[in-house]
Amino acid sequence: MRNIIFILLSVALSFSCLKAEEKPASNMTAAREAKKEIKELRDSIKKIEPFFKVMGKPASNDWLASHTEAGQTFEEYLDADPTKPTKERQKIYVLPLGTFDARQQKLIAQTTEYLAAFYDLPVEQMAAKPLVVGSPKDGSPNTRQNQLTKKRQIKTGYILNDVLMPILPRDAAALIAFTVDDLYPDESMNYVFGQGSLENRVGVWSLFRLDDHTDERGFLLRTLKIAAHETGHMFSMKHCTKYECVMSGTNHLGETDSRPIDACPECSAKICWLSDTKPTERYARLAEFCRKNGLTKEAEKFTRKAEAVKKI
Ligand SMILES: [Zn+2]
Ligand SMILES: [Zn+2]
Repeated sequence: MRNIIFILLSVALSFSCLKAEEKPASNMTAAREAKKEIKELRDSIKKIEPFFKVMGKPASNDWLASHTEAGQTFEEYLDADPTKPTKERQKIYVLPLGTFDARQQKLIAQTTEYLAAFYDLPVEQMAAKPLVVGSPKDGSPNTRQNQLTKKRQIKTGYILNDVLMPILPRDAAALIAFTVDDLYPDESMNYVFGQGSLENRVGVWSLFRLDDHTDERGFLLRTLKIAAHETGHMFSMKHCTKYECVMSGTNHLGETDSRPIDACPECSAKICWLSDTKPTERYARLAEFCRKNGLTKEAEKFTRKAEAVKKI
């Protein structure tokens, strides 16, 4: 996981080619309007604070026990001149890479729908594409057999550079591929859940370690959390340390499972700002998604949040 974050955050600092379009006009009225909108968003989103737990002391194997992170407020995010979607590059593409069974296909379709509700951006699921790699036995440099699981793993750099980059659509804000194969970034690591490149707008995430084949709801929730979290990195969002939030770093699946599928007030403000959406409409869409997909508790919580942000 450490490598993933490093790659995402380090490129976030240097990436700047998507921003020009979204700057407000440089006259005083536009600047005042933008400031007013940001204040209104901040005031509105504050009302969801009671729905989130303030981040407590981490257990010894949790992310924050081994990573020193400062977090990122909404204002710090705005000051960092983040990457956000533009008119020309607005769409999130989801690509199933390899062969998926019926339940995995359903999960990818659900995840695509969740991303559309979560980021209020056009999201398109691309037609599945075969994942062609050599066999470890044939000495392929892009694959190996994992020592512990004895299963094939695929090198993330190969997928990002040789599979995704050549097919990146011009209007993509991000192209996110899912695979059922296990992944590794280089010989120094046993595995990674996924890896993304903000600079190149591509990422790949594996379902391999998310699925324990017993808990369908848990498998769906994990996948939704990972998709929302990693797409947030694609839009320059850093890890959240203020609340237990979908944007908080996680070191293990137990930690992922304990986190909500939603973003805290700080991170939700960033999402509403980057997609220019109203919190109340966003929560209503998320509630509808959860209702439709059997996530009853989550649906009820989103409905309460939609009500909360409406109140003056
Ligand atoms: Zn992360
Ligand atoms: Zn947060």
